[in-house]
Amino acid sequence: MKSISTNGRTYRWMDQPLVVVCVDGSEPAYIPEAVRAGVAPFLGRLGSSGTLLEADCVIPSFTNPNNLSIVTGAPPAVHGICGNYFFDREAGTEVMMNDPKYLRCGTLLAAFADAGAKVAVVTAKDKLRTLLGHRLTGTCFSAEKADAATVALVGMPVPSVYSAELSEFVFAAGVKLMERDRPELMYLSTTDYVQHKAAPGTPAANAFYAMMDRYLARLDALGCTIALTADHGMNAKHRADGSPDVVYLQDVLDGWLGAGKARVILPITDPYVVHHGALGSFATVYVDAGEELAGRIGSLKGVEVVLGRDEAARRFELPPERIGDLVVVSTRHVVIGTSKARHDLSGLTEPLRSHGGISEQRVPLLFNRKLRGVEAHRRLRNFDIFDLALNHVEEKVAA
Ligand SMILES: [Zn+2]
Repeated sequence: MKSISTNGRTYRWMDQPLVVVCVDGSEPAYIPEAVRAGVAPFLGRLGSSGTLLEADCVIPSFTNPNNLSIVTGAPPAVHGICGNYFFDREAGTEVMMNDPKYLRCGTLLAAFADAGAKVAVVTAKDKLRTLLGHRLTGTCFSAEKADAATVALVGMPVPSVYSAELSEFVFAAGVKLMERDRPELMYLSTTDYVQHKAAPGTPAANAFYAMMDRYLARLDALGCTIALTADHGMNAKHRADGSPDVVYLQDVLDGWLGAGKARVILPITDPYVVHHGALGSFATVYVDAGEELAGRIGSLKGVEVVLGRDEAARRFELPPERIGDLVVVSTRHVVIGTSKARHDLSGLTEPLRSHGGISEQRVPLLFNRKLRGVEAHRRLRNFDIFDLALNHVEEKVAA
């Protein structure tokens, strides 16, 4: 049986086209709510014809660290991408981590392509495209920056980066590519625009999952193995009055230590902050004598856990040199900010929903096929999805 090995794992070759879908911000409740509302019949059938599981994503529960974990089959300690943003101690500056130069290993997408597989990758936002497509021989484009040929293929205009249609474009492109090119391996990654605004079971959320259900059903009808997970969950992060519930950690530390003694980095920060105001539930702090501060920060209302660098790197499998002296995670309904003055919340048209913490670690892990040989007590991760979809699917019985 043909197989490939990459990043310490071995994967069997596809027995039929494999489509791995990362639904950005898909808290586990979204899908059962859509099924209950009667708008997602394909997903509703997976309970009997396929496999429904849940898994843990990587912390910080952000988009890039998790997408890269999924496509490498490894945690951030291996691939190096632990946020959108970090403080480069050597350069002494805060930098974006979305350049492939920060990637420390190859993707299994590229490994399969190198071994001769036809591979296609479609992502909603362009920020992920260069990382996911690193050294990939195959098709790779974003909906955000789709070119004329792609627009003609998909038959949809290029949507706004802040829209549900940006994700629909990804699914529509996936179906068209499967019909035209029949790639053996396809990775589709959406955007969490809808999940940041709409809770599970709300009309906007159900409309999104109904849309997704229609495209997945078409991929299923095309004879694809479908494996679906999320990069992270999503929770309400606001007070009863609708205002965001924020610990402005830079302001707190400036008050305690004096201005400029500590540097709070929010790795959620990226060029697209309108829908969350750069507020998430994970921060890292560069500060001397962090150990002494840890207890004090941990006693702040809304802080769930404070870890020193080494402990955080161990527990969350992070590259220690790309995090600060402390890692701070806030509770389920609280986010961490830097200084109040540095957050522009004018784009928040709905009460804040966000992610980043341990409270957003659970994600769905679904397959349109039965699995076998998965150990009962195995802690499943979203980045086990290729292993499960390739090494653990039941053999197809000829009809
Ligand atoms: Zn995300």
